[in-house]
Amino acid sequence: MKDMANERILELTFCSGAGTVTGANFLLEGNEKKFLVDCGLIQGEKFVDDLNWAKFPYDASSIDILFITHSHVDHIGRIPKLISEGFKGKIISTVPTRELAEIMLADTAHILSRDTEHGLAEIYSVENIKRALELWETLEYGQKLNVDHGFQFSYKDAGHILGSGMLEIIYNDRKIVFTGDLGNSPSPLLPDTEPLKNVDYMVMESCYGDRNHEKREERKKRLEEVIKNNFERKGALIIPTFSLERTQELLYEINSLVENNIIPRMPIFLDSPLSIKLTDAYLKYDKYFNEKARRIIATGDKLFDFPGLEKTLETDQSKAILNVHPPKIIIAGSGMSNGGRILHHEINYLPGKENTILLTGYQSFGTLGRLIEDGAKKLHILGEEVIVRANVAKISGYSGHKDSDHLVEFVENTANTLKKTFVVMGEPKSSMFLAQKLRDNLNIKAFTPNSGETVTLEC
Ligand SMILES: [Zn+2]
Repeated sequence: MKDMANERILELTFCSGAGTVTGANFLLEGNEKKFLVDCGLIQGEKFVDDLNWAKFPYDASSIDILFITHSHVDHIGRIPKLISEGFKGKIISTVPTRELAEIMLADTAHILSRDTEHGLAEIYSVENIKRALELWETLEYGQKLNVDHGFQFSYKDAGHILGSGMLEIIYNDRKIVFTGDLGNSPSPLLPDTEPLKNVDYMVMESCYGDRNHEKREERKKRLEEVIKNNFERKGALIIPTFSLERTQELLYEINSLVENNIIPRMPIFLDSPLSIKLTDAYLKYDKYFNEKARRIIATGDKLFDFPGLEKTLETDQSKAILNVHPPKIIIAGSGMSNGGRILHHEINYLPGKENTILLTGYQSFGTLGRLIEDGAKKLHILGEEVIVRANVAKISGYSGHKDSDHLVEFVENTANTLKKTFVVMGEPKSSMFLAQKLRDNLNIKAFTPNSGETVTLEC
């Protein structure tokens, strides 16, 4: 038998998700074990980049466990591909992540199976998704999973979306952490990101590594202002929204504005089948909400439902929104306007100067949302030329990610023990800015690895 104490080196490969926001996929190997952390879609200008369909740089059948940090598509979207390349290990996540991932994968499969060029119908088949769920086991936050050859795994609450977890790995008394995405605490719905201690190696996100958000107290006030303003302009307020978490946060805040009579009554449409399904799933997992949200539920409040809200599941219902007299509010996907029903609303409402488009989240480079954010006056949407005269409003406090200062503060808590910090999952300038800030402010070794790069961790 091998003396495990002698295996003091682990290798970490940033297969993708380094130097870019999306496509998280990291390989940790050593002592005859191979673990993956996340298996996400690479997204950008298109919902999926062609890069996704290259073969994985490892033998999928040799992977022991795939750990998932959370159910966003850029962290789970290539699981069916991993299955199709022969993966037969275990998949591990928290309990809500598994359920939300099932909904997200079905939705992704629905979109991607139309692609005939890369044989995606075969990869995103019902069978491959079913197989993934058969291999998928869950952990509660804090529950420890011991794996042979001396590895121990557990999740801490990342506070990013429901079920999101930072993966902590203990090996030879060393602690390695993959943060996944880090929540912009305090969130209206979720508990705060748990603090970390005694971390030796950290792989961290940097989506907002070079920017700070508006003050969080101001975001509900701004939402109130934008809604009131739209009422006075008698316009349509269209809100491109991420279906997962952002939609539920928004509904929760509009719920409180409506029920406390702070905003005037007007029709509000939740025009996204995916959002409607995810919102239903959220209601099953209220034990993972923060104390305040749980207290409100205990009073009998529905949290995501209020007078005036209409959930338009069917296409006909969605089309009929156009006939409803403004003022009205339409919440639809996708959050970066790179697909989904929001595109039809943008064609209908962006040309009207009485209307408003409210951006509530990160708009990645190359997306339609980014063009709107940057003030483009003429757009091409679904083959139509669209002139933008609508008011473009933004609330950055709604971001689901920690901003630059809070990322530094988060690392500071464990700076005294950190040997190396790898800054990933951000645009290059954002990752580099954060790494420099961590070096300057905390005097730690922070790196920005390249995609495909392998580093060694001494344990
Ligand atoms: Zn995320």
